[in-house]
Amino acid sequence: MCGIFGASGVSDAAQATYLGLYALQHRGQESSGIVVLDRDGAVRTHRGMGLVQDVFSPDVLSRLQGDVAIGHTRYSTTGSSVLANAQPGVVSYHAGPLALAHNGNLTNAAEIREDLVRRGSIFQSSSDSEVLVHLIARSDARAIEDQIRDALERVEGAYTLLLTVGRTLHAIIDARGFRPLVLGRLGDGYVLASETCALDIVGATKERELEPGEWLKIENGTVTDLPRLPPKPIRRCIFELVYFSRPDSTVFGQSVDQVRRALGRQLAIEHPAPGADSVFSVPDSANAMALGYSEQSGIKLEHGLIRNHYVGRTFIDPGQASRVANVRIKFNPVRDVIDGRSVVVVDDSLVRGTTSRALVRMLRQAGAREVHFRLASPPITGSCYYGIDTPTRDELIAANSTVDEIRAHLGVDSIGYLSLDAMVGSAASGITYCHACFSGDYPTRLPVDSSRLEKRTPSRVITV
Ligand code: AMP
Repeated sequence: MCGIFGASGVSDAAQATYLGLYALQHRGQESSGIVVLDRDGAVRTHRGMGLVQDVFSPDVLSRLQGDVAIGHTRYSTTGSSVLANAQPGVVSYHAGPLALAHNGNLTNAAEIREDLVRRGSIFQSSSDSEVLVHLIARSDARAIEDQIRDALERVEGAYTLLLTVGRTLHAIIDARGFRPLVLGRLGDGYVLASETCALDIVGATKERELEPGEWLKIENGTVTDLPRLPPKPIRRCIFELVYFSRPDSTVFGQSVDQVRRALGRQLAIEHPAPGADSVFSVPDSANAMALGYSEQSGIKLEHGLIRNHYVGRTFIDPGQASRVANVRIKFNPVRDVIDGRSVVVVDDSLVRGTTSRALVRMLRQAGAREVHFRLASPPITGSCYYGIDTPTRDELIAANSTVDEIRAHLGVDSIGYLSLDAMVGSAASGITYCHACFSGDYPTRLPVDSSRLEKRTPSRVITV
């Protein structure tokens, strides 16, 4: 997953983008980058591995001058975690510098890349997003917009894009609308962001969320609606609401906080825990869900686990070993509210079971008499090919075990998963969602073999 932010007509566009990315840090922590254009069309860029605040020093930011910018914060779903894959990528193009920031995942990138490499294209990264740049450059159309349209017709999957060509900023969402994007007003200029929390941090006012297939062009203080991409059945990603987005954001027209509370209430209805002394969340993504569970059930809400906020999201750090160690670094139980009690622990989702198993062990060591585990989403049985970093099926605990086996694996007294209908019902409001990772109902053809994308990269250069 990634976070993207763009600005046009904003006096210190890099500073605004930096703040925007700072607010979107939860969407990716591996690398980040900003590309900025000044009034003469000169392009400046800085990218680095790590957190936004570490990548951009005040000195670097002061050198990124201009009033048009796009930025990106990444964790890898396709392509490895290396600087070459950090975005935005910027290339010299006949119509001016072209920079691209992509949130989502292209499902046919491996095939397109293979074809392009055979025809002589030279790739600089192993990320799926680079194929778009090549397709734009190879289009026979004359106008840049037609070239972009040609490229988009070739790709499948999820793409929410911010693209600058010269000083013109384009914002595009694939026709299914997997990933969110919101337009805001900042002074005389405009900003775009994955989530509204990034508008808040820069003091922008929300204009509107972009709809699936929408394409905005922002140039000289004017926003133009370009013809939409050919329509496809809409599939907003439900996991944005369940886990990914910040609760203070509005995503797909809905308050993430309110949706999560509703999920928690439904969970309490479907899987009550009579006689439990308290309920608490696995912080922070499940906080609102535990609140909803408590409201509905009348079980007292407590803070049973404290999260160290200086540690990243466990999943975002690739590699199983560091993930296990991170759990202990990241959470600590509050003994006084656990010792001798029967507790309900609410989490948003269960993926591998690694974090949760370690957490349950901690709770037992802290004296929990009974642990009732409640999940505010259904079992995750399939990978996501649209930009969420869900592992392959063999790593997904629910793809390989029954619910009772999962209960035994976690070492809990009871377990309850929210049903698919209740999840969709809680998130509803007339939107059609992609819930393929829960239901297996994939809205696109699946990638042939995504690992090929890495393997076919000729002579990878390792930067040390
Ligand atoms: P585990 O017990 O190892 O399956 O981890 C479950 C935790 O991972 C839950 O607390 C979720 O909030 C979190 N989680 C779920 N999906 C993701 C994801 N795609 N990326 C990062 N964390 C996730």
